[in-house]
Amino acid sequence: MTAARTALVIGGGIAGPVTALALRRAGIEATVFEAYADTAEGVGGILMVAPNGLAAFDVLGLADAVNAAGQLMPGMAIVDAGTGQDMMAFGGVPGLPPSRVVWRGDLHRLLHEAATAQGIRVEYGRRLVSVDESPYGVTAHFADGSSASADLLIGADGIRSTVRGLIDPAAPGPRYVGLQSFAGYGGPGADSDGLMRFAQGKRSFLGYWTQPDGQVGWFSNMPYEQPLTLAQARAVPAATWLARLRDLHADDLPARELLRHATEDSFFVFGPSEIMPSVPRWYRDRMVLVGDSAHAPSSSSGQGASLAVESALHLARCLRDRPDLPSAFAAYERLRRPRVARVAAFAERQNNRKAAGPVGQVVFRAIAPLMMRTVLTPKRMFGWMHGYRIDWDAPVTG
Ligand SMILES: Cc1cc2nc3c(=O)[nH]c(=O)nc-3n(C[C@H](O)[C@H](O)[C@H](O)COP(=O)(O)OP(=O)(O)OC[C@H]3O[C@@H](n4cnc5c(N)ncnc54)[C@H](O)[C@@H]3O)c2cc1C
Repeated sequence: MTAARTALVIGGGIAGPVTALALRRAGIEATVFEAYADTAEGVGGILMVAPNGLAAFDVLGLADAVNAAGQLMPGMAIVDAGTGQDMMAFGGVPGLPPSRVVWRGDLHRLLHEAATAQGIRVEYGRRLVSVDESPYGVTAHFADGSSASADLLIGADGIRSTVRGLIDPAAPGPRYVGLQSFAGYGGPGADSDGLMRFAQGKRSFLGYWTQPDGQVGWFSNMPYEQPLTLAQARAVPAATWLARLRDLHADDLPARELLRHATEDSFFVFGPSEIMPSVPRWYRDRMVLVGDSAHAPSSSSGQGASLAVESALHLARCLRDRPDLPSAFAAYERLRRPRVARVAAFAERQNNRKAAGPVGQVVFRAIAPLMMRTVLTPKRMFGWMHGYRIDWDAPVTG
């Protein structure tokens, strides 16, 4: 066990509360500091929690709550946006539980409640701005003039992490991938099989599914050259974005119909779609990164949150089992880097396939049935990713 007894966790999104809960199991007292003033402020849209993410939540006794908050997703289908018909459909990986679709605000609230139920303090309105370190501990300074001290500081502060820059001022920042993301709900669903459907239209992408109440939920990645921040994107009236989405999907099925039912009240602006290039330094002295601050794969992987939860568990195991912070942080990085790099590479291949031009799409349609019988089986594509499990009790060696 490291000499660490206390931790400051910066960020109260997904990785933050989960890290605090895992540290509690490892015998380390953590306090979470979140910049926003409220648990669900600024969050919207949906998340797919994959089987590996559910298994990681299960280590902390949270899988039932996540399952209850989310909707079972038995598989997915790729839709020909010209006809509105399925081109190919996948079930989940045999032997693994299905993924869950969760509204992001619900997941944040659930994690907040789980942490506070265990007596973990979550302080809102506390934006980290700087840090002082000494041989005895680390002190975080917040924008409101307050400060807090502990043995170590964990940056669970997302893709635009402040802690990452404090660890390494030369660290890269997120890369905008040229897409703005939106989500919404409303209007009757046309299918009852519960599949998540992905339709790459002529000019924009739309994913959709039928919710338990029979209404459609949808999300869209709209090509948008200018890299607007989330705040800038939200400053644009919802009606303007909706009009643009309707125009982009005017020739696509069933997007054209779905968007007819969209209203400004049931519409979320989710902001720029970004990925993190590989982050060279995950830790320094008494500070370490977890979740999107260290590794944010493209949203097309559906893995960002699941990887964040896995990393939180591994970080806590390493702090539990290694004798000092440097060896705990080094063991954590050794455990995590290969996996997050593999997921990032997988997501990039998916994005390249989506970006294939009209000719590529035609070729893909022609060979899809054969590929589904051979290389594109769920087990081959997702087995390694969704079947990943963490043995919490196993000692961290090496
Ligand atoms: C469009 C889109 C779709 C996605 N779909 C999926 C999906 O289907 N499945 C999936 O697994 N993942 C998905 N993801 C990724 C997923 O949302 C992230 O990987 C996940 O939220 C990472 O959790 P995190 O806690 O590391 O970061 P976040 O959830 O971003 O939380 C970071 C928190 O830190 C706070 N913070 C930031 N700076 C400071 C500061 N200086 N001081 C204090 N607090 C601070 C922020 O306010 C925030 O609450 C998607 C992402 C996008 C953009």
